[in-house]
Amino acid sequence: MVKGDLMIVDKIKQALGLDIKEEEYAYDYDETHGYLSKKKIPNKWVKSTCGYCSVGCGMLLGVKDNEVVSVRGDFDHPVNGGNLCPKGLSEHIPITASDRAVVPLMKDDRGTFNDVSWDKALSHMVSTVQASQYKHGKESFAVLSTGQLVTEEFYTLGKLVQLGFGTNNYDGNTTLCMSSAVVGYKQSFGSDGPPGSYEDLETADVIFLLGANIADNHPILFNHIRKNDDYKMIVCDPRKTKTGMLADLFLPITPHGDIDLLNGLIHLVIKNNRVDMDYVNKHTTGFEALKAHAEQYTLAATVAATGISEEKILETYELISSGERIFFGWTMGINHSFQGSDTVSLINTLALITGNIGRTGAAPMSITGQCNAMGSREFSFSSSMPGYRKFENKEDRQELADIWGVDVAEMPTARGGNYPEIIDGILAGKIKTLWIIGTNPLVSFPDQTRLKKAIAMLDLLVVQDCFHVTPTTALADIVLPAGMWGEKDGSYTNTERRVSRAQAVVTPPGKAKSDFDIFIEVARYLGKKDALFNGWHTSADAFEEIKIVSKGQLCDYSGMTYALMLQEGGLQWPCNKTYPRGKASLYEDGVFKTEDGKAKLLFTTTTPLPEKTDNTYRLILNTGRTVEHWHTGTKTSNVPILNKLAPGPWVEVNPYTAKYFGVTPKDKVSLVSRRGRVDNIVVRISECIHKDHVFMPFHFAKKCINDLTMPLFDPKSGEPNFKQCAVRLERYTEN
Ligand code: SF4
Repeated sequence: MVKGDLMIVDKIKQALGLDIKEEEYAYDYDETHGYLSKKKIPNKWVKSTCGYCSVGCGMLLGVKDNEVVSVRGDFDHPVNGGNLCPKGLSEHIPITASDRAVVPLMKDDRGTFNDVSWDKALSHMVSTVQASQYKHGKESFAVLSTGQLVTEEFYTLGKLVQLGFGTNNYDGNTTLCMSSAVVGYKQSFGSDGPPGSYEDLETADVIFLLGANIADNHPILFNHIRKNDDYKMIVCDPRKTKTGMLADLFLPITPHGDIDLLNGLIHLVIKNNRVDMDYVNKHTTGFEALKAHAEQYTLAATVAATGISEEKILETYELISSGERIFFGWTMGINHSFQGSDTVSLINTLALITGNIGRTGAAPMSITGQCNAMGSREFSFSSSMPGYRKFENKEDRQELADIWGVDVAEMPTARGGNYPEIIDGILAGKIKTLWIIGTNPLVSFPDQTRLKKAIAMLDLLVVQDCFHVTPTTALADIVLPAGMWGEKDGSYTNTERRVSRAQAVVTPPGKAKSDFDIFIEVARYLGKKDALFNGWHTSADAFEEIKIVSKGQLCDYSGMTYALMLQEGGLQWPCNKTYPRGKASLYEDGVFKTEDGKAKLLFTTTTPLPEKTDNTYRLILNTGRTVEHWHTGTKTSNVPILNKLAPGPWVEVNPYTAKYFGVTPKDKVSLVSRRGRVDNIVVRISECIHKDHVFMPFHFAKKCINDLTMPLFDPKSGEPNFKQCAVRLERYTEN
């Protein structure tokens, strides 16, 4: 019988009750977890860490015959205590997806992909890049990486790109989510590094979340808030999100009103003498200038600029000025702005003048996005040198050159192009060859029309990914098949600086290799393997060097071992002789990484959004995530249960707006901006959104929200202003 006939027979047997799918639904006893579905009982359970978001949940991977058959939360892990969100619970499923990249591919003259050997792919890649660099200069080669590699791979890649290829046009997709937090911290404190911990959520008496929908995007963080039995939560967001619904006080802010709100709160704190002057005098600089700046932000001016009522602003001020331990948390609502870096510094300023840093429960905390955006920040050698060293600092360069045994003249003296500057460089004809690793810009980068124009101008595009075909691999000249989570060994750093093990438990499919192995191979073809990675065989060799490189730095790993990470459920840096089990808070002594050791009280004013609404584009588009999906969906679109829960994008519309446009729930509409359109989107009507705004999630490649968004970036961090472009809504018709 052929397959179709067998299925019909199966269906008839099921209808007659003759086939109860005994094997499919059988239970059995697992020694660790008791009764489980028989097919999910593994030969062994291995500890690891979730590879999606930056919460960094501990997991047990159930492994049977080179397959991960199940995933469970690690009850002993301090981050999640056994809990996982829907993405984590199904994270093993994409490992065996049918669209895994399994063999190196090269496009022929007709644009058809052909299987090739690793030797052919890598020798062609390296020789083409070298020839291009010879002709156009070292900086004509650029690299765009990700926040999803293990730290050991970031470290290896950084050395390979900066010292091997000799280009500093190198960045990660972390610039699309976290770079403003990095710049904001550096400006205020002299260094990157979130100062607090999840423990602060358990002990704060006020939790102030700005532009952070953690209920959808960092769901397990809520378990820490639940342990807190006496707190008030303020949530500031233009949209009443799930997180906003859980707030004691919700602040429905006008888009891009955050700077005015923070200035208004600073004004009230100063005017009413609620500044912690002892802390300010001992540990900060710039108070008099801040005081003069804040004078103009009267209550009336703040109400007018933010759209928040006087009563709510005063209530927020009362909570902040009387709170003893305040946790200031933010995510993309702050970072995804062309003024994101300065807004982050302004949050830091509010925390500093109220003395809310360096104590349990009190911290300005950027809640990171990807599972290892932090590892990238610490050691990828892109926005700073490994160990938070500064490119411009001669001693820092010399120190690293000495550790690595290279001539200091080879060390880059400045950061190269960031992500949008690399795209600009391609459009300007300066960048000719590009290597994209573990990211999918053909969905995730703003203004896709402009991006596609840039990609078409390249002489060579190499894309290294664990999936093929993605919208980005489809445009590649060479595809390098990479291992994914569960197939790669190393560590991730989460939002609270906790470094946890990510273990390889199965081998990559087909001819795919781990990213670490690919980087080492590229170094070999470049003739730099021995110079840069002498004696290295596994990612553990990179980890041992990271310990040396980080010793004495803020992100000190020198006291860590892989075994200790597994034993403790991760270790928060600094982890060294003084803090052998890591450290929960930074800056407890009030000494910062600035030249004078004092934090800077920085401030800023609002620059109006350059794109306005008008009679043609009368709505403001807000973008964001949903709990079921991750970024551009390459992993989560392979998980049936997640796809059933969120099969496609929707547009959230206020009832007033729906009536105005004549649409009802489940109608199909198009969104149109000045740059493009997205068609056939389902309408959801909700009073959670303002009548002048619409919201749409950004995970869906076939209905790509970045066909609409603006090429507007923070000039300091390069982070895109993904939100707040002007759109119109149209009824969708098939033709
Ligand atoms: S909250 Fe984040 S880290 Fe935890 S299981 Fe979900 S996606 Fe993974």
